[in-house]
Amino acid sequence: MRKVKWDDLTEGQEQLLVSARMCRDRAYAPYSKYKVGAAVKDENGRIFSGCNVELVTLSRTTHAEGNAIDTMIANGGRKITALACVDNDGGAPCGECRQRIWEFCHGNPDVSIIGADIDLKNIQIFTIGELYPYSFGPEALGIDPSKY
Ligand SMILES: [Zn+2]
Repeated sequence: MRKVKWDDLTEGQEQLLVSARMCRDRAYAPYSKYKVGAAVKDENGRIFSGCNVELVTLSRTTHAEGNAIDTMIANGGRKITALACVDNDGGAPCGECRQRIWEFCHGNPDVSIIGADIDLKNIQIFTIGELYPYSFGPEALGIDPSKY
């Protein structure tokens, strides 16, 4: 993980982070009040964003990262090349989301995860390999996610 400043980001990283930040504003989190926005870039350079969506039952909450990934899948993308996440604390995805992200990294531990707080001041760049070491993914079962 390395902490960076806005000026250190590439244009593509800025775009991804802004997409995540904007989507965070649309989060539906009336119970936890913990809004999260995420954005993924697919193998064709397209960006898909998502936010968390809670339900009154307090179960089956959609996480922002999962929402963005599902939107990528629904639009034909299959491979994450980068992901950004914005929340109150700096955007490190939860454990469940790390597994979900890994599913579509196609075994590449170097996919970058950019996390930031809502002011986009506290920015940190991880790799999925740092966040999810000793991972279990589709490759363990001989599955190539791009074929499905
Ligand atoms: Zn999550």
